[in-house]
Amino acid sequence: MSPPKFNDWGLEACIADAVASMGWDEPTEIQLEAIPVARAGTDIVGQARTGSGKTAAFGIPIIESCKPSGKTQALVLCPTRELAVQVAEEIGALQGSKGLTIETVYGGTDIDKQAKLLDKGVDLIVGTPGRVIDMSKRGHIHLSEIGIFCLDEADRMLDMGFFPDVLWVVEKMTNRRQTMLFSATFPQEVLDASIEFTKDPFHVMSEDLEVEVPEIDQFAIKVGRLNKMWALGRIISNMGGEDQMLIFTNTKRMVDMLYERLERHGVKSSSLHGDMPQNRRERILESFRDKKSRIMVATDVAARGLDVDGITHVVNYDLPDETEVYVHRIGRTGRMGRSGQSWSFVGGTEMGLLDKIANTWGMRIPVVDAPELPEGGKEMAKLKDDWDEISDSFGMVTVKLSLGKEKASKLSLADWIQKEARVPEVAIGEISIGESESTVEVHVKKASYVIDVLKSRQFHGISLQPSILN
Ligand code: ADP
Ligand code: MG
Repeated sequence: MSPPKFNDWGLEACIADAVASMGWDEPTEIQLEAIPVARAGTDIVGQARTGSGKTAAFGIPIIESCKPSGKTQALVLCPTRELAVQVAEEIGALQGSKGLTIETVYGGTDIDKQAKLLDKGVDLIVGTPGRVIDMSKRGHIHLSEIGIFCLDEADRMLDMGFFPDVLWVVEKMTNRRQTMLFSATFPQEVLDASIEFTKDPFHVMSEDLEVEVPEIDQFAIKVGRLNKMWALGRIISNMGGEDQMLIFTNTKRMVDMLYERLERHGVKSSSLHGDMPQNRRERILESFRDKKSRIMVATDVAARGLDVDGITHVVNYDLPDETEVYVHRIGRTGRMGRSGQSWSFVGGTEMGLLDKIANTWGMRIPVVDAPELPEGGKEMAKLKDDWDEISDSFGMVTVKLSLGKEKASKLSLADWIQKEARVPEVAIGEISIGESESTVEVHVKKASYVIDVLKSRQFHGISLQPSILN
């Protein structure tokens, strides 16, 4: 049997033509499963991995059920403005010559202008909850007219942050007849919550979470705060000329700081977070899509849904706290079966979190060394002694000395170090003396200094050659 084609469905001609002109031949798996069901008007909860074509899976049936009438017939809600724009554009492309008016409704844009557009009549709205509610309250959106409701990134839309807003919208949609929820991740509590919104939904779910992670080469580097710039420099210097990198941090402040630091190190990048004015956000994303900028630093405002096909590298400069966020972030690369790599910077105290992420999704995220500098490459930042990273939970660093038990005892060594380095007793921890080598624990605050002293003095004529044991 040959694989099914879009043509086999007898889609409306304008959609079939649009799909063909986009160069799509076969539907993706989620499209194959969801589109026929959605066309029949059934509710859907659809899960499929990042970059697998979920937008068209709900977009095509929505286009088919709407007609150009100026009455709003469908509403799609997304978590970010950027995603609303992208989804509206994709639906716009997929409708071909059908002539539906599709309007994006999100914050940070001129309210009066938007009100005028809405008052002229729109067939389909793609928006973020806040502004959609605002426009409904002002009487420019008539939620009770709308029959089809869709949540993209549904688990995000139904989490604590958005849930009350979504509920408000749903309650006003008194003539809602079809509801569709799509995401790459559906935690159980979200599935439970979705029961309230849907009636006998058809579930497209993968049984095996493992298959939901796209084919991305994932790596982690054990590195502390102090050396993240160094590690980032190594990855950047190994990028190919056409490659693009998206770097995630956990806070807006860190986005700004990292952007400035890169600048200081002579690396051009752009930055994106939710505190920036909307028109700037759009310009930045546009120039990233156009490959005018190669590196973008962003908060999780860019973690979900964004489809930029040039992204080859995702870097978690900060590891995310939530396992779902990790999957969405790395899913910005490896779209539609393309290859991609992700690098996560993991501090000593975060190894447990990394394990949790890997185990939740059945992924392998090997901890590796930072990549070598390419031939003739230059370090972007210097590698520093990161005492906090190499100290244990008591704040002690283990120093190795080339000194055997013939020459020293625990007591004589401890006394000598305290006297030579003039450090208090508590700064020196466990000492163990082996055949030809010894180890001494030194408190992290004194470690650098003690090592310098040990390097410069001799213990009864023996040079100790101190080195740090990781
Ligand atoms: P998801 O929402 O699942 O992360 P998207 O809907 O953003 O994925 O689609 C990812 C990319 O794949 C987009 O660039 C989209 O235009 C493209 N695409 C979607 N469906 C197909 C298809 N059947 N054939 C080829 N490309 C497709
Ligand atoms: Mg999507």
